[in-house]
Amino acid sequence: MYRNVRKETRLARIKSDFVSNVSHEIRTPLALINMFIETLELNRIRSEEQRKEYYEIIGQETRRLAGIVNKILNFSKIDSGNRKYRFENVNLNEIAGDVLHVYKYHLESQKFSYYFEPGSDLPSVTADAEAVTDAIINLIDNAVKYSLEKKEIHIRTGIRNHFVFIEVTDKGAGIPEKAQKFVFDKFYRVSEGSLAYKGKGTGLGLSIVRHIMDAHNGAVDLESKVGLGTTFRLDFPANKEQNNQKQ
Ligand code: ADP
Repeated sequence: MYRNVRKETRLARIKSDFVSNVSHEIRTPLALINMFIETLELNRIRSEEQRKEYYEIIGQETRRLAGIVNKILNFSKIDSGNRKYRFENVNLNEIAGDVLHVYKYHLESQKFSYYFEPGSDLPSVTADAEAVTDAIINLIDNAVKYSLEKKEIHIRTGIRNHFVFIEVTDKGAGIPEKAQKFVFDKFYRVSEGSLAYKGKGTGLGLSIVRHIMDAHNGAVDLESKVGLGTTFRLDFPANKEQNNQKQ
C-alpha cells in the first residue's frame, strides 16, 4: 500500500517535471523567433549582415522546435509499440558521413570542433537507416548540450567482437556513476547539482536510442567520467557474409 502511494507520487512528479521541461524547451525557441521577427518587422536592423544573422537564428530555432516535436512524436510511436522499422543493408560510415554533412553547420555555428574517424573495411549491418540516423543525432545533440568549455566531439566507427560500432565522444560534463544506469529510462534526467545539468531537455532522447538499438538486436553503452566527458557506443551485429572476408 505504502509502496503504491510512493510509486504514484513519483510518477506524478515525473509527469509534472516532463510537462514543465517540455514547455520550457518549446518556449525558449518560440520567444527567440518572436523577438527576431519583431525586430526585423520594425526595421531596426543596422546592416545586411545583421539581417542575415537574424534570419539564421530564426531558421536555427525553428529547426530546434521541429526537433523537439519530432522527438516527442518518435517517443510516442515507440512507447505505443507503433514504430515500424525497414531493415536493409547499410554502411555505418555512410550514415555517419551523411549525418555530419547535415550537422556540420550546426556544430560549427556553436563553435564545436568535430572529428570523424571512419573505421576501414567496415562490414555492412542490417538496419533501418532512418532510425540509426535518429539515434546518432540524439547522441550528437546530447554531446553538444552537455559540453562545457571544451567543445570537442569525436565520432568513430569500427568493428569489435562481431559488432560494428559507432561512438560519439564529448569532453563535457560527464555522468555521475550512480546515475549512469538510469539515463536510458524514459523521462530520466540527471538532476544532480552543478551548472552542467541546468540545460533543459525532455529525458526522452536516450530511451529512444535504447529502443532503436533493441530493435536492431544491438546495444547502447556508455563510459563516462564527471568533468572529463562521455562516450556513447552503439553496437550492431555485423552482417556475416562480409564478416568472413575480413579480420
Ligand atoms: P535529455 O537530454 O532530453 O534530458 P536524454 O534521455 O537524452 O534526455 O538524456 C538523459 C540524461 O542523461 C540527460 O538529462 C543528462 O543528464 C544525461 N546525459 C545524456 N547525454 C549526456 C552527455 N553526453 N554528457 C553528460 N550527460 C548526458
